This record gives sequence, C-alpha cells and structure tokens, in this order.
Amino acid sequence: MDKYCVFGNPIAHSKSPEIHAAYAAQTGQPLAYEKWLAPLDGFAATVQAFIAAGGKGANVTVPFKLEAHKLATALTVRAQAAGAVNTLLFGDDGSITGDNTDGAGLVADIVQNAGVPISGKRVLLLGAGGAARGVVLPILEHRPAALVIANRTVATAEALVEQFGALAGPGVLSACGYAAVQGAYDIIINATSASLSADLPPVPAGAFAPGALALDMMYGAQPTVFMQFAASHGAVARDGLGMLVEQAAEAFHLWRGVRPQTGPVLQQLRAKL
Ligand code: NDP
Repeated sequence: MDKYCVFGNPIAHSKSPEIHAAYAAQTGQPLAYEKWLAPLDGFAATVQAFIAAGGKGANVTVPFKLEAHKLATALTVRAQAAGAVNTLLFGDDGSITGDNTDGAGLVADIVQNAGVPISGKRVLLLGAGGAARGVVLPILEHRPAALVIANRTVATAEALVEQFGALAGPGVLSACGYAAVQGAYDIIINATSASLSADLPPVPAGAFAPGALALDMMYGAQPTVFMQFAASHGAVARDGLGMLVEQAAEAFHLWRGVRPQTGPVLQQLRAKL
C-alpha cells in the first residue's frame, strides 16, 4: 500500500485522514493515510523520516506551509504564486514537488458546490495572510469584474496587488482598509483568522449585495460570527468545510491521477461536525 500523511502541529484535530480514506475507498486506490505530528523545530527531518518509511506524498498544515515551500525541490505555478505549500509529492529520484491546492479548493467550492460563477462578479477578499495569498491567482483565473482585497494592515493587501496586478485586467485588482470598502459585492470571502477568536472583521454591512455568497474559510459545528453577520444582511453564508474537502480532492488527484467525488464526503463530514 502506498503511504501518505498530513504533517502539522497540532495535528490531532485533522480531518484529512478521514477525507482521504473516503476518497481511497470510493476510487479503489490502495493507500494508507496517517497523521504525523512534526516537532516545531523538526519539520524537514520529519518529512525525511516519512520518505525513508516509504511515504509517497503528504499534506501540510499549520504551521509548516512556508517551511514546506522552502523544502520543495520543485514548485507548481500555483505554489509559487501562493508562496506556501500544502501538498507534497515525493519522487523516486529524491525530488520533492510542492503544490498548493487551497485556492483551487476554494474556487471549486464556490463554482461547483455553491453554484456561483466568479466570472464577471464583484469579489471582496477579507484578509491578506497566507490563506488569502493562495486564493488570489485562482480567483483571477476565473475573470471576476473586480477583486478587492481588504485588510487591517493595508500594506499587506497592497503587496498582493503589487504581486498579482499584472495578471488581472486594468482596474480589476485593488486593495484597501476596511473603512474604505465601497459598494456591494456578489462574493465576500473571509480569509482572516478573526473567526478563530470569534471576532468579526470590520466589513461594512453594505458590502453584501442582496443574495451575495459569503464564505468563511473557517468551519465548525456552529456558524461563525462572520456567517451570522452576513446572513443577517441578506447574504447566503457558507463555511470552509467544502474548501477543505475540495483542496483534499486536488491533492488526491495530484498523487493518484484520479479525481474523487467530493459531494458524498462533504455530506459525511458535515454530519459529524
Ligand atoms: P494568517 O495568520 O496568515 O493571516 C491572518 C489574517 O487575518 C491577516 O490578514 C490578519 O490581518 C487577519 N486578522 C487576524 N485577526 C483579525 C481581526 N480580529 N480582524 C481583522 N483581521 C484579522 O492566517 P491564514 O491566512 O493562514 O489563515 C486564515 C484563516 O483561513 C484561518 O482561520 C484558517 O483556519 C483558514 N483556512 C482554512 C482552510 C480550509 O481548507 N477551509 C485552508 C487554509 C486556511 P493583519 O495582516 O492586519 O494582521
């Protein structure tokens, strides 16, 4: 059986083993998938130990996505753009390919699962940290009418505009602080970590167009404060569980060359939240 794992610290909470076991059963792929706790100062050594034990690939979660980016001997275009790696592929020749499937997972959840096209829409991205950076390119590839990145620290959002501006059409990509958010948006994505501490990023209520899709990258048994706020201002709120399941499907496809069906696995996970 081919071996895969997820590296993180902490890692006990990870749903990745359950997701990949379900994908393997569904597609008949013979693989085993484990959780590996890497010490905070020992990520590279832990990866090498997994490779020595026969590991073929891995997912990478908090706080190792930047270290995984440095460790990779080759990077996909989207991993280069994201500046972070959440998926590793180990070659027989000792190569370590780094990919980032988070952005593709988010876009798949919006377009396929929520049924909301991004093309021609006004998109507001809240936050400019690692998760936000990873989704800018996949969103731009879907040709939104506008992508505005709002962040508490405006300079970090402006740096993303600097990085990706040439890939967007004229005037499509811009950055601002929360107080400067103007107009209404069709898709609002919360890529801040505010929900982790039950905080609400200070997005104006008028930013939600009637029936807008408001997606929080965070997930849990209860709707986040952002989801509640969005719903109370006329938006359709969605959590980050679909993104999680979709980014895992992208990783599974990279490793096995087979694309699993995500719908049943999303339902299975949702029922257990
Ligand atoms: P980072 O630490 O890299 O970035 C945090 C971002 O949140 C920054 O933009 C920061 O602003 C902002 N922020 C933090 N607290 C507040 C607050 N109280 N009000 C407003 N803005 C705030 O985190 P990540 O980008 O790695 O992760 C963000 C979220 O995305 C996490 O909740 C994570 O769990 C989730 N995520 C979900 C995934 C999924 O599959 N569903 C995948 C990846 C991430 P500033 O720059 O001003 O400090």
